[in-house]
Amino acid sequence: MAQKIQSVKGMNDLLPVEQKDFKLTAAFWQAFEDVVGRWAKSYGYSQIRTPIVEQTGLFVRSIGEETDVVGKEMYTFSDSNDSLSLSLRPEGTASCLRAVVEHNLLYNSPQKLWYMGPMFRRERPQKGRYRQFHQVGIEALGFEGPDIDAEIIAMSADLWDKLGIRGYLTLEINSLGNRKERAAHRAALVDYLTRYEDKLDDDSKRRLKTNPLRVLDSKNPDLQEICNAAPRLVDYLGEESQAHYRCFKTMLDGLDIKYVENPRLVRGLDYYNQTVFEWTTDKLGAQATVCGGGRYDGLIEELGGKPAASIGFAMGIERLLLLVHEYGSLKADAAPDVYVIHQGDGADLQAMKYAQALRAAGFDVMQHSGCQSLKAQMKKADASGARFALIVAQSELESGSATLKDLQGMHGQQTVAAADLINTLQQWKSA
Ligand code: ATP
Ligand code: MG
Repeated sequence: MAQKIQSVKGMNDLLPVEQKDFKLTAAFWQAFEDVVGRWAKSYGYSQIRTPIVEQTGLFVRSIGEETDVVGKEMYTFSDSNDSLSLSLRPEGTASCLRAVVEHNLLYNSPQKLWYMGPMFRRERPQKGRYRQFHQVGIEALGFEGPDIDAEIIAMSADLWDKLGIRGYLTLEINSLGNRKERAAHRAALVDYLTRYEDKLDDDSKRRLKTNPLRVLDSKNPDLQEICNAAPRLVDYLGEESQAHYRCFKTMLDGLDIKYVENPRLVRGLDYYNQTVFEWTTDKLGAQATVCGGGRYDGLIEELGGKPAASIGFAMGIERLLLLVHEYGSLKADAAPDVYVIHQGDGADLQAMKYAQALRAAGFDVMQHSGCQSLKAQMKKADASGARFALIVAQSELESGSATLKDLQGMHGQQTVAAADLINTLQQWKSA
């Protein structure tokens, strides 16, 4: 036998059935996508789909060269015929804003956009952290806030409610202020951290030179004391930024959304300013952040567009669904309504005709393929999860009827004329 070829490490198959180390099925995923599509539309967001491959320069410029994502985690390659460097997208915002600028979508009016799809980062795979993972994200472009800041938080909270996991998530918020305020804070922070340089780990030493704010993001327990006592960005906010943050919090209070202020919340990508937030859980081990976002008012301009205030968030679908699978209320709906069983010459064709008529009437119908004993087919019908079986054997074939069986018991079994099939099933289904 030829050697089997394995999938790429950290990249999952979504199967019809649960896997030992990956519980999410394609049907569960699809159920989530259905909820998400309706949810986004109910807030006035339109879907945008961009390519998975972009010029590497897009991510270098937006996410930042010194971030882990761009510095260490991107899948980058050169297109064979030219020297253009391309990368698999590690997140969705850069591509989305690139498209908005390229197609001049902000010409007439602000935009509310959402996207969903695979992202790629070469990270160490573990539960909740993969090399191909998926995000749903929203972008509200051309809105100054802080009303929209609060609205998108409410929007995310609403999705947690719809999925039955609100109680397992905590909202953390912070403000990063504007560029000037961040620069003043950065100077104080570098000053402070330099005093403790010999105590810092290698990662933090590097970040101290390249991106000092990210030192505060360190998960190293030995550094927590130093980080906790470091100068806090919130103390460097000017009146305008303070007012923005205050108003944002007042609206959250008014919407009865609980939050924790975390002055060390800085987010992993460079482009954020003012409001930032994360929804975290203590149910997924180290992979605690399910959704993160904030303002990035300067990003559109940086990508060559006219300046436009922007805010958005992205959630990791795998992490979210692992939580939903264990604690939430979402149900996968993979079972057909009706399983069609047939036996005898010509019965398969007649059964197929009934099946087509039922589908046209809105039923999901699984037709048994091939010939097996009625008993074996009945077993398959039970295993399919179908609510009803439709049986066409010799006697039904001769009398132009079919036998319906309620596999969950309530209606028992009944032979009905072909003309009454749909009616009867509709009554059974709604009873
Ligand atoms: P983390 O700190 O966990 O690495 P991040 O700050 O790098 O997360 P973002 O870039 O903000 O993550 O992406 C938004 C969300 O996408 C995260 O909150 C998480 O739910 C999900 N996510 C990010 N990286 C991965 C990954 N490698 N595998 C699975 N989900 C991921
Ligand atoms: Mg990360």
